[in-house]
Amino acid sequence: MPFPVITPRQQHSMAGSAVDFKNLSCQGQSNYLKALRTFPGQAIVDFSALVENMRRMRSLFAPAEVMGIVKANAYGHGLIPSCLAALKAGCSWIGVAKAQEALAIRRGGIGPGMCRVLAWLANCVWAPYEEMIEEDIDIALGSLDEVEAVSNAAQRAGRRARVHIVVDTGFSRNGFLEASFEKALTLLKRLSSEGRLQVVGIMSHFSSADAEDKESGRYTDLQFGSFSRFAARAREAGFDNLLRHIANSASSFSRSLTRLDMVRPGNSFYGYAADYALGSPQDFGLTPALTLEAQLAKVKDVEEGRCVSYGRTYRTEGETSLAIVPLGYADGILRTAGGSNSPSEKSGAPVRVLTSSGPEIARACGKVCMDQFMIDLGAPMESLGVMEGDTVRLFGPGAGEEKGEPTADDWARRSESISYVIYTNLSLKIPRLYLNAKRELGEKELSLLDPECVLS
Ligand SMILES: *Cc1c(COP(=O)(O)O)cnc(C)c1O
Repeated sequence: MPFPVITPRQQHSMAGSAVDFKNLSCQGQSNYLKALRTFPGQAIVDFSALVENMRRMRSLFAPAEVMGIVKANAYGHGLIPSCLAALKAGCSWIGVAKAQEALAIRRGGIGPGMCRVLAWLANCVWAPYEEMIEEDIDIALGSLDEVEAVSNAAQRAGRRARVHIVVDTGFSRNGFLEASFEKALTLLKRLSSEGRLQVVGIMSHFSSADAEDKESGRYTDLQFGSFSRFAARAREAGFDNLLRHIANSASSFSRSLTRLDMVRPGNSFYGYAADYALGSPQDFGLTPALTLEAQLAKVKDVEEGRCVSYGRTYRTEGETSLAIVPLGYADGILRTAGGSNSPSEKSGAPVRVLTSSGPEIARACGKVCMDQFMIDLGAPMESLGVMEGDTVRLFGPGAGEEKGEPTADDWARRSESISYVIYTNLSLKIPRLYLNAKRELGEKELSLLDPECVLS
């Protein structure tokens, strides 16, 4: 295959990208060009960052096991690739919310020989428990109806279901309350002795481990105390050696006591602290894995006083140029990311634009539209050397917007949100492209990835 031919204008377009086009293989180049023609925005995921984040957590949190959390399409990073990165870093557990995600992992080629998979969100009427049991997926049980349903499915499947008991320690989401716990234990004991179920773990979830105020700290202590009592009660009832797991990203880092036998960090696998108020990715030794880029749809010079977007919440403050970033709320950009200067002042989310004198931050101005939003470039386009088709970076790894390297934390700050939402929201229409996958994976694992999404 010959290397593709690139026009000077295409080269100009690529200059702002995190992808180092000329150093890609022929196949990588051709994949990247295809993605650019398929959609005007790209989510570029650094495979090595995922692997390194997980390695770091595994060494910090040892001897606790680390379960890689890949719910919601791995927080937008891609389910199968993120699983493979966690496994590469040595994980033997993967966790998802919905039953169907767990099945997708198995059907994507990650079999029981490669890792355990736990799913903790289903309903007893429609959940594909039988398939889950056949695929050797661990099921979290949070209601008596669910215990019955899983046990019946186990009988139909002709094998024991592996289950984890979910207990509600104060989050009031899934899980048994103290009032129904004795009943649950009695039922679980009977079904275990009948060979239907094998209870392997007990789990819960923190509500406030990502907040630093005293009140939240006390609540986390209360939840942890409650969890210890639930676990002790289960042991007295004869369930010894249960794998105890309650810690998320925030508590895994900040409270070593809560790590117990296994931790379940999600957000920090993707490179961010649970809340930007806790610190930057660098403070935690993490590297954001996803870079979101787009190609400017239009750029034009405008005079002072132009009203921008719906509702006229932004007016240009001098002679400037405006550009269209072709991603909007239909693509997962939060509507709250827009900026206004009239009637109220609110800075929009930052976008890194490569000008002829280096990278500059331009801000979202006016309301975010369905498919696009505008940025104010701050000067006439000619003086900046910015053109239609240029690649801009919405967020990615780096030192933050003050340093010209906006992160998802910056987007969260400007959108009254959290980093989780910023990348989990990204529409599936946006191609996910992987850097360093070939470096990290063997041939067998690579073959589980869509070959068109591998850049290097
Ligand atoms: C999402 C989730 C996690 C991971 O939480 P992070 O804050 O992303 O670390 C762990 N456990 C459960 C049950 C979850 O739903």
